[in-house]
Amino acid sequence: MAKVEKYDHMKLIRNYAGGHKNLILIGRALAGVSGAMTLIPFYELWKIIKIAVEGQDPDLITGHAWLAVGLIIGALLVYILALLCTHIAAFRVQANMRSALMRRIITLPLGVFDEDGTGKIRRIVNDSTAATETYIAHNLADKTVAAVTPVGLIVLVLAFNWKIGLICVIPAIIGFCFMMTMMGKNMQEKMGEYQSALEVMSSEATEYVRGIPVVKTFGQTVHSFARFKKSIDDFGKWSTDYTLMLRKPMIAFMTCINAIFLALVVSAFLITGDGIANADILNVMYYIIVTPLITVALTKVAYSGEAEMTLIDALKRVDQVLAIEPLPESKCSLSAKDSSIELEHVSYRYKDATRDAVSDISLSIRPGEHVALVGPSGSGKTTLAELLVRFFDVSEGKISIGGVDIKDMSSSELMGQVSFVFQDSRLIKTSILENVRMGRPSATEEEVLAALEKAQCMDIINKLPNGIHTVLGEKGTYLSGGEQQRITIARAVLKDAPILILDEATAFADPDNETKVQAAFSEMAKDKTVIMIAHRLSTVADADRIFVLSDGKLVESGSHKDLMDQNGLYKRMVDEYSRSIEWKVGA
Ligand code: ADP
Repeated sequence: MAKVEKYDHMKLIRNYAGGHKNLILIGRALAGVSGAMTLIPFYELWKIIKIAVEGQDPDLITGHAWLAVGLIIGALLVYILALLCTHIAAFRVQANMRSALMRRIITLPLGVFDEDGTGKIRRIVNDSTAATETYIAHNLADKTVAAVTPVGLIVLVLAFNWKIGLICVIPAIIGFCFMMTMMGKNMQEKMGEYQSALEVMSSEATEYVRGIPVVKTFGQTVHSFARFKKSIDDFGKWSTDYTLMLRKPMIAFMTCINAIFLALVVSAFLITGDGIANADILNVMYYIIVTPLITVALTKVAYSGEAEMTLIDALKRVDQVLAIEPLPESKCSLSAKDSSIELEHVSYRYKDATRDAVSDISLSIRPGEHVALVGPSGSGKTTLAELLVRFFDVSEGKISIGGVDIKDMSSSELMGQVSFVFQDSRLIKTSILENVRMGRPSATEEEVLAALEKAQCMDIINKLPNGIHTVLGEKGTYLSGGEQQRITIARAVLKDAPILILDEATAFADPDNETKVQAAFSEMAKDKTVIMIAHRLSTVADADRIFVLSDGKLVESGSHKDLMDQNGLYKRMVDEYSRSIEWKVGA
């Protein structure tokens, strides 16, 4: 199989295989030997036919037959040995790829998981490395056999009667040329498009499944998931175009490789034109058996080419993750003097965005101050809060905590200064104890319980069969969104960092949970510098200061009273909010 693109995938694989790379070589060599061994029985077959046609002693057949059977069994055993070698190497490659990915992922800015989506990265870590493993474990051995077999067959075919052999081989060669046109450079690109289309469709399908409750509740149809439908339509169109593109070369390929039989019949007539000789019958019978194998071998070559393209695509996807720049770690690790926060002309623009999500923001927060970020949806509140914990580094400007630029702090120093509870904080599938303990791994069980109590979680713990030892996600133990948020608050309570960033929940409409979350927030906020991302205005009036954002810019700041007196955006938002809560059903 010719290279489809100048991309040395085998070199990459050898690098990942490390000390096991020789096993790949041995595996391939054994597969080649096995491929050659499977061809020798055909020579024995020729001898058997010869004995039969020439009317020699039938007892002679037994020896050849046993030799053929022995060779086939031997070839099978050698092939199993080859697979053993390639499997061991494949598992090593997969493990090394996954650890290289995990080592890189842990150094990436947290924002990458927002921008590129955890789903996409998960797919690369799982599926792309699995595709590489499958290729090395299975396809590599098959590919070697697929390469050895046609060559051996052509030798076999030409050896006995080169004229018939040549007539049979010509259509195979033409077919092979058509196959090569299908495997052109364009094809690798198509394979990439195919994998990307699958990726989009699977992540949209996940969103769709998650959204089914909404669809059912509001009597919607699949059409309300426009992006999901579009991904299916796009995939359908892509598949049709792709099939049409391959139609002609595929027809030509199939016609040629099946024309080998026609060539055989024609050559049989040609050589037997002057009357049949025993040798001719022998050769024609032999060719009837052997030539279909050329077809099978060529089809295998085609499939091994496809597997190679899937592999190259998988390796490139892994490369993409490995190429993401890690968050630069500072060489000097300075410690914050206190829990004050200072932003100087901070701007941030998301990758590929046309405008800044936050633009030229300067503000300072005193230690122990409680501030709120408010503003219309999309005004940059979350982005600003995420910049404080280096989800991404600012595009321009500087953020300092306790007088130190956060880029001059080690990530552990920064994380020690700040706790955050974002709305989508996740719990992992382990016990509640371990989930909370992530906030401070050295904490005792009593300390974890005290944190859970402060975070108003005791009602959750009391209803679970094994209390804090209950494993989440197991035996149907699931928590509601609000309950999950309270557990993540307990985690932050346990961590007890001097600065708190809280994202007020909007999604959970249940009032009991809301009261508890607010109570947990207040308990946790004592003696801390707090930045609350407020989505509703009912909770911000008590804040020491309120920063009002609009279109990524800081437009107003001050206490609730100052801002009401200013009669600007904040007042308009408060008025609108008051009107909305006065609204009553049936009013
Ligand atoms: P808020 O929290 O006030 O609702 P955000 O900080 O989430 O606002 O968003 C500010 C702007 O940045 C919006 O225009 C939003 O569309 C954009 N934005 C947010 N997250 C991303 C992202 N991961 N990639 C690109 N743009 C984003």
